[in-house]
Amino acid sequence: MLVLPDYSLAACNTLAVPASARAYISVTSDTDVVEALALATEHHWPLLPLGGGSNIVLAGDFSGAVLHLGLRGIEQVGEDSEHVYVRAAAGENWHAFVQHCLARQWWGLENLSLIPGTVGAAPIQNIGAYGVELEEVFHELVAIDVASGLPVTFTREACEFRYRHSIFKGRLQDRYIITQVTFRLPKTPALNLGYPALKMLTDQVKPQALNPQTVSDLVCQIRRQKLPDPAVIPNVGSFFKNPVVDAARFASLQQTHPDIVAYPQPAGVKLAAGWLIDRAGWRGYEEGGVAVHAEQALVITNPGRRSGRVVLALAERIVQSVVETFGVTLEMEPRVY
Ligand code: FAD
Ligand code: NAP
Repeated sequence: MLVLPDYSLAACNTLAVPASARAYISVTSDTDVVEALALATEHHWPLLPLGGGSNIVLAGDFSGAVLHLGLRGIEQVGEDSEHVYVRAAAGENWHAFVQHCLARQWWGLENLSLIPGTVGAAPIQNIGAYGVELEEVFHELVAIDVASGLPVTFTREACEFRYRHSIFKGRLQDRYIITQVTFRLPKTPALNLGYPALKMLTDQVKPQALNPQTVSDLVCQIRRQKLPDPAVIPNVGSFFKNPVVDAARFASLQQTHPDIVAYPQPAGVKLAAGWLIDRAGWRGYEEGGVAVHAEQALVITNPGRRSGRVVLALAERIVQSVVETFGVTLEMEPRVY
């Protein structure tokens, strides 16, 4: 375990916000995690468990300890006639894990290629992309209870996964440190090509050449074209969730905005937040070192490496303007500290 005081977090968050933490603790084992929890309790430090820092906004300096999760390891832990069970440690890089699985013909993760961050953070918001969500391939996870230091196993049901949400973003927020995640991956490919951008590319591939690895490659290709690489232009991906409205509200929005982009869901209609922001006039906007990405208005970028407060001030203006234009309130996706 490594403990460093007054640590700059500028390189630890993909928005490149220049903030610091009172302490930085790097852990590489479960024992380290328990020791780090004891140290934080002793010093009354609030804790910020950190993976790749690709879904956080640091509003200012953090008055506690960042717990950087460096736990590593991937292994097959079981098998049945249709699935393999694969366990990965929280600190494994997500995309490298996806590629590790594809190379062994463990399928199901291909649409989730190139999402930044770590395995341990993936269940926190039930990561999703191109019509696939983590919960579909999730088996169970182990997390250490911050209060007791004891490991607890959470099944899929116990995680209460929802759209970009889980119990760890809800009523158990800040209560557990996820140390490992086990996935249940199908041995037979079942390609999910429903998203228009993906379908457009896969339609150009000969059916016999279409497999989960080619789908992963195409997902990477689309993402590289459309999304800013955080290493070049700092960002945290989608800044807002796609709002879900009821059928009556949607019908009235459709009357005033016939070309509104929306998708029916079991519990209402999902509106494309990027479209709302674009139509409210923000796509490509840039001022004072912060900007709205021109290829996807849902992404706020921080080319000037400004503070979290400056980024949040722009986000607030966008929220207000979408309320004024559409009467819809956008909810932020990344967690603010
Ligand atoms: P961090 O930002 O380090 O942490 C996020 C939150 O989880 C924090 O609250 C943190 O305290 C907590 N946390 C992290 N690890 C643990 C742990 N082990 N135990 C307990 N709490 C923990 N998301 C999607 O869902 N789909 C996408 O397609 C997608 N695309 C993106 C594209 C770009 C360019 C970027 C920058 C982001 C994108 N994201 C996407 C958001 C982000 O990559 C994911 O949410 C990712 O899972 C965050 O991982 P991380 O390790 O960086 O988490
Ligand atoms: P896109 O393909 O341009 O689609 C725009 C929006 O429409 C998305 O938000 C998506 O919702 C929705 N959508 C498109 N086709 C759909 C369908 N067939 N059924 C239901 N909803 C549909 O989006 P994009 O910005 O290029 O992103 C592609 C995928 O990567 C999306 O799934 C997106 O969520 C994911 N992504 C997420 C982040 C993040 O930080 N969370 C960042 C980049 C990309 P969903 O968002 O609900 O899928």
